[in-house]
Amino acid sequence: MSCDIALIGLAVMGQNLVLNMNDNGYKVVAYNRTASVTQEFLAGPAKGTDIVGAESLEEMVLKLSVPRKIMIMVKAGDPVDLVIESLLPMLEKGDVIIDGGNANYPDSQRRAIDLKEKGFRFVGAGVSGGEEGARFGPSIMPGGNPEAWPLVKDIFQAISAKTESGAPCCEWVGENGAGHFVKMVHNGIEYGDMQLICEAYQFMKDQLHMSNEEMQAVFKEWDQGDLGSYLIEITADILGFKEDGEFVVDKILDKAGQKGTGKWTAINSLELGMPVTLIGEAVFARCLSALKSERVAASKVLNAPAAQDLSSQKEVLVEALGQALLASKIVSYAQGFMLMRAASENFGWDLQYGSIAHLWRGGCIIRSVFLDDIKAAYDKNPALANLLLDDYFLDKIGVSQAGWRKVLAKTIETGVPMPTMTSALAFYDGYRTETLPANLLQAQRDYFGAHTYERVDKPEGERFHSNWTGTG
Ligand code: NAP
Repeated sequence: MSCDIALIGLAVMGQNLVLNMNDNGYKVVAYNRTASVTQEFLAGPAKGTDIVGAESLEEMVLKLSVPRKIMIMVKAGDPVDLVIESLLPMLEKGDVIIDGGNANYPDSQRRAIDLKEKGFRFVGAGVSGGEEGARFGPSIMPGGNPEAWPLVKDIFQAISAKTESGAPCCEWVGENGAGHFVKMVHNGIEYGDMQLICEAYQFMKDQLHMSNEEMQAVFKEWDQGDLGSYLIEITADILGFKEDGEFVVDKILDKAGQKGTGKWTAINSLELGMPVTLIGEAVFARCLSALKSERVAASKVLNAPAAQDLSSQKEVLVEALGQALLASKIVSYAQGFMLMRAASENFGWDLQYGSIAHLWRGGCIIRSVFLDDIKAAYDKNPALANLLLDDYFLDKIGVSQAGWRKVLAKTIETGVPMPTMTSALAFYDGYRTETLPANLLQAQRDYFGAHTYERVDKPEGERFHSNWTGTG
């Protein structure tokens, strides 16, 4: 019997996707470079299923129905190119190659274009939700050659997460590298959401002297409202988790790791000239945390403001903190969507922003009720220039603004670092300011570099230069 799809790469993600496809009635042929891994998979998790194995790529290809659909789940980067290179001589024009790993989007752009020229169809699909998502329903962000989509749509939508209404968290994103670009922005937003939560935690812990149980209760309450999300929910769990009678969170070294997708988002925002400041700060916050020994030394030397115990204002400040968190989160998503809009225009992708918010609604790490409001904003006005301008978000920031400013004023006074919430407010204030000091900046550039400037009293685009020093 010929198989519906092949999957190459049986590490944790690949195995779980194969099992998920099998659960959904698809016949899968599974292959791994190291054959013993395939054998162990077939004898273990795949035992008793319809999954078949292959010892070689040739055997795998022969077991597929035509046009062939082959999903690659190997280590991102060169290994994907090596696998594609080995596969091509065995395939026929029209076959579909899917990379479901964490590719950097320019690699997917290149692969989609190269493979199309050779007559193959390529899909670069961002898959989010970790191993649990892969097994029981990830959020899937497919992009690439649009002709490939009808051939993989049913399988992908069947295995993807579903919203409460049963809609799949998987829809075509756009051409070439669009799927992996959107996955990258998802991961950047994830960095931002996590850092925002960590800043709220530090404020409650260090300024309000709250216990883990008290903070857990606050996160549980937040999870019932506008901030309701997977990350808030797991934070509440983490704060209550004990081993041998002790809170594990208190035992964990404050040095954050990172795999690079947040950094890619920050780099892309610089390349596309978009002020995605919050994600940038979230990446830098991880970098700063990693300088543990330097921070320990500096903590003994650098001046700090006089300590203040704010615990008597706990109730008021916790409420304000929730508002600061929500307002900052709105800014972060507004910035993420600004970046996607810039990329869409730059690469001609025609990204559908409401649909992207829906893709993230289930299965992935940033899933939250808040994404329904983003979808509603773009459904109402697909040409919305910025999420901050949507009535719903205008209103939310209006209500949250006083609390947001109050918390940040306290944090600056008391010296508790809250880089993402602070950068969100600076962005908000900059974005709503009609006249920024860039007039002076342009004067400086013209002074030392004759870079010229435009004038407020002359038509746009007309350039002027002044002889600032009266010489020459
Ligand atoms: P991984 O550790 O990233 O990669 C291991 C797999 O890659 C193994 O099957 C390995 O085969 C294969 N591989 C490595 N180099 C190869 C080569 N040159 N030729 C053929 N196969 C090669 O596995 P993973 O964690 O399951 O992730 C798979 C992909 O999904 C990655 O791109 C990852 O970034 C992405 N992803 C992972 C997660 C997660 O939570 N883990 C979440 C989302 C996305 P051997 O057994 O022969 O070494």
